[in-house]
Amino acid sequence: MKKLLSVLLTICLLLGVAAPAAYAADDKCDCGLNPIIYVAALGSASVYADYGTENERVLFRPDTNALISEAVSALAPAVGDLAKGDYDAFGDALIDFVYTAFGDLELDGNGDSKENVYAVYNVPEDGKHGIDESFYFNYDFRLDPYEHADRLNECIEQIKELTGHEQVQLRASSMGGVVTMAYLERYGTQDVETIIFQCCPIQGTAVAGDLFNGNLVIDKNALINYALDAIPNLENDFIQGILIVLVNALEELGVWELAISVVDEIIPLFKDKIFDEALIPIFGSMPGIWSFVPDEYYEGAKEFMIVDEDAQAGLVAKIDAYHYNVQNRATEILQEAYKTVKIYNVVGYNVQRTPLVPTYMNTSDGTVDTTYASVGAICADYHSAFSSDYTQAVNDGHNHISGDNAIDASTCALPESTWFIKDMLHSTTHDGHGEMYDWMFTSKEQQTVYSNPDYPQFMQNNVADQTFSEVKITTPVDEFKANPSLTTLAMLMQYLFEQFRIWFSTLLK
Ligand SMILES: [Zn+2]
Repeated sequence: MKKLLSVLLTICLLLGVAAPAAYAADDKCDCGLNPIIYVAALGSASVYADYGTENERVLFRPDTNALISEAVSALAPAVGDLAKGDYDAFGDALIDFVYTAFGDLELDGNGDSKENVYAVYNVPEDGKHGIDESFYFNYDFRLDPYEHADRLNECIEQIKELTGHEQVQLRASSMGGVVTMAYLERYGTQDVETIIFQCCPIQGTAVAGDLFNGNLVIDKNALINYALDAIPNLENDFIQGILIVLVNALEELGVWELAISVVDEIIPLFKDKIFDEALIPIFGSMPGIWSFVPDEYYEGAKEFMIVDEDAQAGLVAKIDAYHYNVQNRATEILQEAYKTVKIYNVVGYNVQRTPLVPTYMNTSDGTVDTTYASVGAICADYHSAFSSDYTQAVNDGHNHISGDNAIDASTCALPESTWFIKDMLHSTTHDGHGEMYDWMFTSKEQQTVYSNPDYPQFMQNNVADQTFSEVKITTPVDEFKANPSLTTLAMLMQYLFEQFRIWFSTLLK
């Protein structure tokens, strides 16, 4: 009897364990909210060398503090050279350091990683879901976005199974938008109810385009602004990550001021070395980084970065596939998807972008240019405005020009469904964003920039109180009165000069 009981108990236990999984497949969930998958940013998955062995090392994203002390000890012997004006020796030390720290990330001619170097991925474990319970999708930023799109598709299938929902909702952040676009191109829209794109380089970033064409310049003032304002908040960006380390190391060595003062002399000397020994071999091998190169830079970038067409044929096939089938067709893919999927594109503007390239005046969120994230907005330069006689490029019966006369959204792929947040740093959110995203995920119908007075098309980011307010129509005169500073004074002068030019040109007619 006892034996029979224990057998029965065992069977019950086994059934108890097996039952939820068996039922879940056919059981529909009636919670009313399709599960949310967060398609995370670059750096969402750590890349390891020799994972799980005693030699395990985090290659990306390495611990910033550890890397700074490595940089300090690598650069310390060369500080004397810098002070003596021997920039060449200092440059060698700097590039050696970058190569030692990041060289193992380099991919082969097919865009594949060394066997002992890889990222560890999340897999969906249970069916827990809700507005505050999303699944985190991560990936190795170096690899082909289509490879991640295939995994995202598997992940969506598993989550549908685990949760008993027929569709999912996606929140794509930064590079997550690249993965999401590749997914839409390859797998279509039937599994997706909603997509929020947040600060995504859907049409690339000018930094990648310029750097991959060998266009490296450093504007001293922009570099100082950037080091002070943007860098501390942009640690998760690849290039910024390296910059933080170098800026901090130079500061610790007491030579940051010196390095800044000689930057104009150093750059021409370093440039070839930086490209030949660090940028081309490391970054140039990564399809993931290639996905950031905008169309107008793309063929030039291939000429500049692809050093051996035969050995790199596999890489070129991968980057061409993404570029021509996804990035180049972004408008078409989004407009087609918009017929059945709720799509919300949220982008930032008015932040100083990486000051390494000629396009450092593009308005941006600090990383991604507003025009590329918004898929087509016409944007005035950083801290500038359109001339006061500017008229909207496409007249669709709505106003799509920002109150500060800096953005024209009428040319976007989805002008009714693209939001611009002034002073929003790349993928840096607060509770205000959270509430807005909840509204987007829980709305059964597509909402637009006209649906909700709390969320107009152009919003000022108020970080301190975690809110947004409408970007009001102001002139540089109002801006200067409200906030007298050198920047607003410069804008005021520019504005007055522009007014004068318009007035003067009417006199000449
Ligand atoms: Zn549910």
